[in-house]
Amino acid sequence: MENILSAKNISKSFNGTKVLKEIDLSINEGEIISISGPSGAGKTTLLNILGTIETPDLKNDSKLLISDTNIFKLNDKELSKFRNKNIGFVFQFHELLPEFTCYENVCLPAWIDNNNNIKERAVSLFNDLGLIDKLDKKPATLSGGERQRVSIARALINNPKIILADEPSGNLDSKNSEKLYDIFFDLRNKINCTFIIVTHNQSLAKKADRQIIINDGRIV
Ligand code: ADP
Repeated sequence: MENILSAKNISKSFNGTKVLKEIDLSINEGEIISISGPSGAGKTTLLNILGTIETPDLKNDSKLLISDTNIFKLNDKELSKFRNKNIGFVFQFHELLPEFTCYENVCLPAWIDNNNNIKERAVSLFNDLGLIDKLDKKPATLSGGERQRVSIARALINNPKIILADEPSGNLDSKNSEKLYDIFFDLRNKINCTFIIVTHNQSLAKKADRQIIINDGRIV
């Protein structure tokens, strides 16, 4: 199996308090990883660093390689481009833009990348996720589970290698949570996408290929 992400000596402090402590982590392509642990343990901070939206405290040998790209060597512009192309994000509160249709929300990351030729791909994602009748609807008219699936389509539009999800089922009932997990596993089987999922849902955490538990800023 091919390594897709490798993190070495990742630490992070906020206001002098160390919330992540010398994390080393290596992830293979197509792996589904769950990250769980008590509130305040550093899970979201770690996810944000792996997603390149937060910078750790850099030590000499700190390193983050994603698909062989050395993240800490990129400038801001290169980093935004890399992130938009390679990493998809699924958040608990969706963060879909309310004034745009579901179709527009899903296409935005591609349009930002100057890729205007994605209608077919977008429609096929809406089909795969059971959302084809929602294309022209505004997010506010959808249920929580449907909105979450739109945010998955949005995360997938640029064909990213890695999907990061922070409490993706936090707002869903158990039936929709199950459905969401099935979607993640189907996607992995279909397109060999890698998933890193922060969750306090124990049944999902246990289903993952590998369960990582964080306590007090360290992997235990
Ligand atoms: P978890 O996701 O495990 O609940 P977080 O990574 O969100 O934990 O937070 C870990 C610790 O870092 C918490 O004590 C939190 O208050 C603190 N923290 C997180 N982000 C910030 C920030 N931007 N500024 C200051 N403190 C932060």
